[in-house]
Amino acid sequence: MTDFEIHILGCGSALPTTRHLSSSQIVKLRDKLYMIDCGEGTQVQLRRMHMKFGRLNHIFISHMHGDHCFGLPGLISTLGMLGRKGDLFIHGPKELEDFLEPILNLFNKGLGFQVCFHAIDPTQHTLVMEDRSVKVYSIPLHHRIPTCGYLFEEKAKEAHLIREMADFYQIPVRLLQGIKRGDDFITAEGEVVANSRLTRPAELPHRYAYCSDTAFFPEIVPIIHGVNLLYHEATFAKQDIARARETNHSTAAQAAEIARRAEVKRLIIGHFSARYEDEEVLRLEADSIFPGTILANEGLVVTV
Ligand SMILES: [Zn+2]
Ligand SMILES: [Zn+2]
Repeated sequence: MTDFEIHILGCGSALPTTRHLSSSQIVKLRDKLYMIDCGEGTQVQLRRMHMKFGRLNHIFISHMHGDHCFGLPGLISTLGMLGRKGDLFIHGPKELEDFLEPILNLFNKGLGFQVCFHAIDPTQHTLVMEDRSVKVYSIPLHHRIPTCGYLFEEKAKEAHLIREMADFYQIPVRLLQGIKRGDDFITAEGEVVANSRLTRPAELPHRYAYCSDTAFFPEIVPIIHGVNLLYHEATFAKQDIARARETNHSTAAQAAEIARRAEVKRLIIGHFSARYEDEEVLRLEADSIFPGTILANEGLVVTV
């Protein structure tokens, strides 16, 4: 399926480097854009990647560390300048509103749209948002402060109509939509033609899990089990595991171990510490446990 993609806007960790921006990515699904985290530099990166600001209606924030949310004031201000009218929904810890409310009052008095805060409890695995295309669930993680990842579950598509069968039974156009959704067809003679003879099943819905920031936390395995694509933080290499423990982050090997236990189809690692000039060391560590591990990078687009 090519209409479910992850666009990496930033995959560095808290300290700025010239190689990476802080955390942010876009989930693109059936022409809609959903943002996860919004570190500094996010809006510039949106421009670079030619993403349409107007298609963005929902932003999901994992936790209240600056490298995951300092980009919000600038982005909201820009949306105002671009003449946005529709509501913007921001999902995340309840402290998000305390952070943004004074800034909005100070700089964005005449904003032409509503910023709607949806406080979530990062310690619970619950449904956060649902629309026609997707369901988004929280994934409780283990970090220094309350943090959750997000699981994007595409909604099932309609079945494919077998054109020759529709023509053969001369099914009226007004009934086709119902048949794609599972109706049988009854001929003028009263013969019931089973739906399974008229359609081919749609592909199984795909799932994407974003897990950053977190220490090694196998409790997430049942929630993310079998996802098509997992983004897991890999801030440190094995040699710095003590630092990973201290700061509640993961090593690349731990990220791969989670992917292996959860039997995910593919793994991207990101949230790289500024200390590594070349992240190849992280990729190799992860690859030895989960072959085919992908290194995140700004501008990278991965199909779910
Ligand atoms: Zn971080
Ligand atoms: Zn953090």
